[in-house]
Amino acid sequence: MKEQLIARWDTFLRNIDKRFEESLAHGEQAVLESLEENYDYYTSFRTLMAIRMQIDESVIRKIDTTWQQQVLPLMQADGGHYWADESHKGYHASDAMHERMQLWLYITEGKLSQKYYDHAIELINRDFFCTQCNAPLQVKKDLFRAHYITCNYCSAVNTFEPETKYATIGWNVVDNLAALYALQEYKAMLQARKNGGDVYPKAVRAYCEKYFDERIKLMPHTADTREQDIEKKVNLTL
Ligand SMILES: [Zn+2]
Repeated sequence: MKEQLIARWDTFLRNIDKRFEESLAHGEQAVLESLEENYDYYTSFRTLMAIRMQIDESVIRKIDTTWQQQVLPLMQADGGHYWADESHKGYHASDAMHERMQLWLYITEGKLSQKYYDHAIELINRDFFCTQCNAPLQVKKDLFRAHYITCNYCSAVNTFEPETKYATIGWNVVDNLAALYALQEYKAMLQARKNGGDVYPKAVRAYCEKYFDERIKLMPHTADTREQDIEKKVNLTL
């Protein structure tokens, strides 16, 4: 009986792992497709959060409920204490899934932001003209917020108000993109945390530096605060 029960539990864990992987893949696809409807970043972000919760409830938590309600009673009735080792398998599987889910969230937010960015960045690819003399204006295309532009011809001060969809880039989208571009450093940091020791603080710093360097490429004016920004993020992460 023992071998059969263990084999059945192992099969369940293998199947749920497969279902988890499929759910992540479908989830990513659904989030990215949801953006195409109206390119509303926040709606798609909420979809992402809803999918995460759904995977958590219908897949990851199923490990514990199946264990508690079906597997454990059978193993206990079977006698002995081998159920204790089998219980660890379940905890380990569910912990590992939570970790993979975090990474999936990180990457999917990045991919969503990339797709949004590629669309919204085009909104500014047109000409803007002075309200006084109609001469072309030099709009700062990587500021993502309202700013004043002095006309080169008549010196009138124009207020440039970017569309909301465009300004959204400067809020969350650049952060998620910078994070996506620093994915390698992020993974190295997670690995260093597991390994422990003094490699971890170094890996955190390497990640934060990469993150802000990528962010500066997207928003050059943030270069002024590079050092402070890195310090702050390092301290928050450690
Ligand atoms: Zn003018």
